[in-house]
Amino acid sequence: MTGKTHLAIGAAIGAASAIYYSSDLGEMALFIGVAGFSALCADLDGPSMLTSKLTKLSKRIREFSLWGAVLYLILITYFFLSGKTISPIIAGGSFAAVLAGLVMKQGFVRNALVSIVGLYLIYHGFSHEQTWLMGLGLFVGWAPWLKHRGMTHTLWIIPFWGWIGWGLEQELGVTGLGVTAMLGYISHLVADTLTPSGVKWLYPLTKKSFKLRLK
Ligand SMILES: [Zn+2]
Repeated sequence: MTGKTHLAIGAAIGAASAIYYSSDLGEMALFIGVAGFSALCADLDGPSMLTSKLTKLSKRIREFSLWGAVLYLILITYFFLSGKTISPIIAGGSFAAVLAGLVMKQGFVRNALVSIVGLYLIYHGFSHEQTWLMGLGLFVGWAPWLKHRGMTHTLWIIPFWGWIGWGLEQELGVTGLGVTAMLGYISHLVADTLTPSGVKWLYPLTKKSFKLRLK
């Protein structure tokens, strides 16, 4: 299942809950962003075997997203060290965009970048007493070093992700964001369950891979 497919499914879920929960345009965009982001995040884990056949163009895009992320982190560090403040919505949105780009990339540099973003989120969450953000940082910092379709693709991670989304919901005061984040994440696992290699929903209790065939 490609990043694009997961993103599309997540965005659709976000659009549905935006219509259900809100009529404000900015909030609706937020719902779509949160669900799309949640639907991608499970694949921040380690390398998959499925990327041997990449077209030249998609290789370029991946390269571009990697170096875009490097540049972005340098910029953020510069802003941070020089004491300038950035709007939290812009900072949060671009962090999410960087991570989304990195989902599609692999290798050590990518893993290290993802972990740096995670450490930054932990630091930021700690200094602003936002426990949920520290939780997100922990997930993001740890995920790239895990086996593909391992711990990030289990039943146990869903309440954890819901808790992160709920924290964001409290932070922004937008009802429904927590549920939407959780549904976005679940959509990823369900979509992967429909692929031939399936999902080890109960890992590490059992290594059995659950798959569903649509016929
Ligand atoms: Zn996946």
